[in-house]
This record gives sequence, structure tokens and C-alpha cells, in this order.
Amino acid sequence: MADTKITTINPFTEEVIETYPLMSDEEADKVVRASHEAFLEWKMKSLDERAKIIAAIGKKLSEKKDEFAQLMRREVGKLIRDSRDEIDLCAAICAYTAKEGPVALADDEREVDGATAFVSHSPIGVVYGIQPWNFPAYQAVRYSIASLMAGNGVLLKHAENCTGSGEYLRDLYEEAGLPKGLFGVLRISHDQSDAIIAHDLVRGVTMTGSDTAGRHIAAKAGEVVKKTVLELGSNDAYLVLDDADLDLAIKTCVQGRLYNNGQTCVNAKRFIVTEKNYDAFVEGYAKRFGAVRMGDPMDGDTQLGPMVSREQRDKLHEQVEKSVSNGARLVVGGEMPDREGWFYPATVLADVEPGQPAYEDELFGPAASIIKAKDDMDAMRIANSSRYGLGGGIFSKDVERAKKLAAEHFDTGMIFINSFDLASPSLPFGGVKDSGYGREHGPEGLKEFVNAKAIKVASKAAA
Ligand code: NAD
Repeated sequence: MADTKITTINPFTEEVIETYPLMSDEEADKVVRASHEAFLEWKMKSLDERAKIIAAIGKKLSEKKDEFAQLMRREVGKLIRDSRDEIDLCAAICAYTAKEGPVALADDEREVDGATAFVSHSPIGVVYGIQPWNFPAYQAVRYSIASLMAGNGVLLKHAENCTGSGEYLRDLYEEAGLPKGLFGVLRISHDQSDAIIAHDLVRGVTMTGSDTAGRHIAAKAGEVVKKTVLELGSNDAYLVLDDADLDLAIKTCVQGRLYNNGQTCVNAKRFIVTEKNYDAFVEGYAKRFGAVRMGDPMDGDTQLGPMVSREQRDKLHEQVEKSVSNGARLVVGGEMPDREGWFYPATVLADVEPGQPAYEDELFGPAASIIKAKDDMDAMRIANSSRYGLGGGIFSKDVERAKKLAAEHFDTGMIFINSFDLASPSLPFGGVKDSGYGREHGPEGLKEFVNAKAIKVASKAAA
């Protein structure tokens, strides 16, 4: 029999946090209808009125930062400092959207021969979001705030592991003044989710997660001709070129791999190092990874917390073992620790080559893949040979050349030069190839779920 409830479990203690009943089809339908009803009023509010409420949500997030951060730590094992940073990023997204949303979404006058014309960015209706557990607050905030600014209603089906965070966010939005029901949370199965995609009142679907799930969801939306945005996984490459500052590259690539317990779509995952620097990079990287402190996410000294679930941890271990049996060199880690909590040690695989999961797939946890390239252009070729294309990085002292490589050759959505970074509220975020399509953040993200309506008025002469 299919599950009728969701149980959340603390990955550090393996203890049950909470049990929630799944909604019936009728209950889910009610949530969709409530969002649509609220949308009918919300869409009539001016951009400035909507912006005021979004700014208030940002303030409320900051006020409740610690409480929300603790909930995320319990639900997904996130380090407490990463949890607090995540709420700061959410508040920054609200502040950016409240300020720039009215500018990006304002009517846009266009020149047309013999007529006046403008483009109105009209809301489309209820947008359905399906989100993963790795950033319980940020994933839900980034699409919902943009869609609410645009005048849409929003639904959230969060990952089961962070059910509490989804409901917390809904209550927080309403406390900050968002009309009741406009942001609706669904506790539903994947089969029920297919029916929500097909629901007449749902007008768009945005999904963040694995490419396997993305293909299914986009196909379902395609059957009913609904627009999708897909933010999927990746195995982001960081190139260490001949002229790189090696100390900076090693330090940054270690942080970039470990951030969020290694479970971020844009974590640095494959390190492609030219022959010149290869041995020194492997040695320096392994030294730092070997010294990583694994432990309690509440402890300020902890660098690596547990993985979100036993399944994710076991999957990573399998990928590491298969890579080694296919020829990768295990330099550090790789052994399942005998302790409570779903921990996996910081692991370094070197001499990674095609045919190994560490080369071909996404390793969604604290395992680094180091790949040797002949020279700079070979490194670029290897990076682009991936089926994914979300983010990536370049380490080089020649910043102008790195900028050109990024713009002209790197086949991904986001490139960081001499650094590792996540998302910025003003910059488009999203990928190409199996990493999905569409963008969040920036004016690009604000316009994903609007109807760009062309309105043309005949001139007197033409009339
Ligand atoms: P997942 O695809 O298994 O799950 C993500 C969400 O999709 C969950 O809510 C899940 O319940 C739902 N889902 C899965 N199959 C579904 C179906 N058939 N119908 C409806 N909903 C379905 O992903 P995961 O393993 O939990 O998350 C990790 C993945 O997400 C990684 O690949 C990671 O890189 C990716 N990710 C991408 C981004 C991005 O912005 N591009 C951000 C974060 C995570």
C-alpha cells in the first residue's frame, strides 16, 4: 500500500522529528483553488503594493532567522552557520525583488511604425513549484518571491525531508501580510503531483531537483502545454589553468566542494587541473580534505555535517566504490564511518577518467573528483564534455583571458573566476543541457512566469 504519511528524521541523531499525513486529492484540490481565489485579488494590486509585502517577508525572515535555521538544521543536517547564511540570502532576495521587481515588470513602451505600443507583464495564474531538500528555505523562496512579485499565486510541493520548513515558510509569509492561501503548501505523493500539473487552475510548473525527476515533470507539463522551468543537477567543473594561483585554487576548491555538506547543485565537483599543477594540486587538496572536521551541525568548529539521508549517503558510497573499481585513485576518505548519523567522510578521487561515475555523473556529497588535463584548452574541452552545464569556475592569474574563456567557450549558465559562489539575487541562475532551462533571479527570473502581452494602439492617421 502506498504511504499515507510523511515522517521527517534528523540526519544527525536518526530520530523522528515529526509525522504528517499526506493530503487527500480533495484536500490538495482545495489548496489549489484557495491559491487561485487569492490570486484573483492579488493580481489587481499594483507592483508597489506587492513589493511592500515582499519587503515585509524579507524583514520577517531576518527576525525569525535563528528559529528557521534551527528547523533546517534538524530536518536536513545543515551546519547551523550555513542555515543562518541561507536565511540571509532569502532576505536579500526579498529586498532585491521589492526594489527591482517594479522596475523589471513595469510596462515597456516599444516603437512601432504608425502606432503606439507597449508590453505589459501580466501575471498568468497559479505557479506550481516542486523543490528539493538541500536548501529548505532558499529553494522555496527563490521561485515563490519572483512569482508573487509578478502577481501570480504559488504552490509548493517540498521534498519530504523538509516538510516542516515548507509549512513554516507559508506561515511566515502570511504573518508578514501575504493574503491567506495565495502561497499554498501541498503534502502529496508523486502520483498526486501529476494531477496538480494537469489541474486546470495551474498555469506553470517550476522544478528543482534531479534530471530524472525533471524529465518526468516536464513531460507531464508538456502533455497539457504548460510552461516549465527546470533547475537540475550538475557536476560543475573548476579549471585550474597553467597560470593559476595554486594556493588560492586549492583553498577555494576545498570550500566549494564541502559547502552545504557537499549537497549543492553548484558545488564545485570536478577539478580539472593541467599537467603542470596536477601533482601539487592533488597533494595540497588531499592534505586539506584529510583534515576536515566532521561532526555536530550545531558545533561552530564542524566543517562537515551528516548527509541528508541514508539513501543519499549509500548512493554516494556506491559511486565512489564504482569509480575506484573502474580505475580512479582513492587518495583520502572513501570508508563508511561506524557512527550514529548519516555521515560520509570528505573523500578525494584522483586520476578520474571517462567511464567512472566520478567523471560522468553527479556526486551529491563530500567527494571530490580530480581530473588531469594536458593543457588549458584540454581542460576546457573536458569541462564541456559533461552532459550537465549548470555552473563552473576558472582559476587563472590572467583574468581577461579567463573572462574570454568563460564567455566564448564555457558551456554552462554561471561561471566564477578565481572564486566559488552560489546565487546572487541580481544575477540569472540556471543551466543548459541536462542541468535544465529557464532562469531564476535577476530580471530574467522575474519574467519567467508572466504573460508578455503586446498592446498596440492605432494612431489617428491609421484609424
Ligand atoms: P529529486 O529530483 O529526487 O527530488 C526533488 C524534488 O522533486 C522533491 O520534492 C521530490 O519529491 C520531487 N520529485 C521527484 N520525482 C518526482 C515526480 N515523479 N513527481 C513529482 N515530484 C517529484 O532530487 P533530490 O535528489 O532530492 O535533490 C538533489 C538534486 O537536485 C541534485 O541533482 C541537485 O543538483 C539538484 N538541485 C538543483 C538545483 C538547481 O538550482 N539547478 C538546486 C538544488 C538542487
